[in-house]
Amino acid sequence: IPDEFTKAERVLREIQAQGFEAYFVGGSVRDALLNQPIHDVDIATSAYPEEIKEIFHRTVDVGIDHGTVLVLIGEEQYEITTFRTESTYQDFRRPDTVTFVRSLKEDLKRRDFTINALAMNVDGEIIDLFDGINDLEHQIIRAVGNPRERFHEDALRMMRGLRFASQLDFSIEPETLSAIEDFHSLLDKISVERIAVEFIKLLLGKNRRAALRPFIETECYQYCPELRGKGAMLFDFAELPNKQIESESQAWALLIKTIGLKENAIRSFLKSWKQSNQMIYEVQQLVYGLNQRLLGDWEVIDLFNLGLDAVLSVEKLLFYYEQKSKLEEAKERYLSLPIHNRKELAITGNDVLAYFDKTPGKWVGEMIEMIETAVVNRQIINNKKVLLAFAKDMIDKE
Ligand code: ATP
Ligand code: MG
Repeated sequence: IPDEFTKAERVLREIQAQGFEAYFVGGSVRDALLNQPIHDVDIATSAYPEEIKEIFHRTVDVGIDHGTVLVLIGEEQYEITTFRTESTYQDFRRPDTVTFVRSLKEDLKRRDFTINALAMNVDGEIIDLFDGINDLEHQIIRAVGNPRERFHEDALRMMRGLRFASQLDFSIEPETLSAIEDFHSLLDKISVERIAVEFIKLLLGKNRRAALRPFIETECYQYCPELRGKGAMLFDFAELPNKQIESESQAWALLIKTIGLKENAIRSFLKSWKQSNQMIYEVQQLVYGLNQRLLGDWEVIDLFNLGLDAVLSVEKLLFYYEQKSKLEEAKERYLSLPIHNRKELAITGNDVLAYFDKTPGKWVGEMIEMIETAVVNRQIINNKKVLLAFAKDMIDKE
């Protein structure tokens, strides 16, 4: 039994001491059985939220309507969720009503896939009511119960199934897959934000290709922002070397490059996926860098402008196109730049202003930029007198 569970044992025992049931459930049990690292230990209990709050002193109502209370113990925190059923899904997404129940079985029944419907008691015994262990052994993603009903209840589960196929490198059971094929259009009802979370996990998974193929074949992609009609290009994307992608921005950059988007279309593409401005900026840098590198070797000014992290990310992306990355070489070239950021320049805007008898304005920034470019390109050395003389030259030429 992994450490994470041993630490949480006390929580389960305290709930049990009050006469309630408590189990580890969901992803943590699955990942422990797969010998994979565990992120969060989720606990399910027959106690109602109010009862949990009476047992523990430090709690936070993180999702009390859904039955979830966060319990804080020392440095650790645990999500404790009351056994519940979810009924009358009228809009193919979240349930209209959540009903708390006292039976573990009811709670496991509402879970999406058999491998996610396992529970473990405090003694490490597994409760496996839907043959989840067998599916774990055979590496299969299978809906709990009738997949068609389950996807009708909550269409997001289709995307979840695909992302687990990628993350775990499992295959999707035929009935489950055929239900995705039939109901893919229900994804229309799901918010972009929730689809994006699953799609990114799919892209970053261990076997991206194994999930992208059914994602395309079942036509789920037609209900994803800006991917409609791009099936053929998505297949190209699926056929790239199946090496795991390292970061979200790298995943977006690779996708955007492969589906042939122009650099000026990146912002609107990622906006429609509800990505942050920070993410958009990073992806723009990577796609720009990748385009430059596909043309030839690095220009020093691009090394300078992108910075080391982005440069190395671009080198990693190059692997997918040229089957090699020149990480060491790029790093060395970056480190040998005369300066690495504007702060290392021997003069500032204020120095320039003080030196010339001109009114402040846009010209100061432009001047600094020209000086910076010249220094980076080793046209002039980074010395205050030299830089001011260079600036004077430029002004005299005007
Ligand atoms: P991860 O490692 O990505 O966190 P996870 O299996 O823990 O994977 P979560 O989204 O954290 O996934 O959900 C926890 C558990 O809640 C799942 O294992 C599953 O039992 C259940 N669950 C989550 N989302 C759904 C859903 N849409 N429908 C049914 N059950 C769900
Ligand atoms: Mg989880």
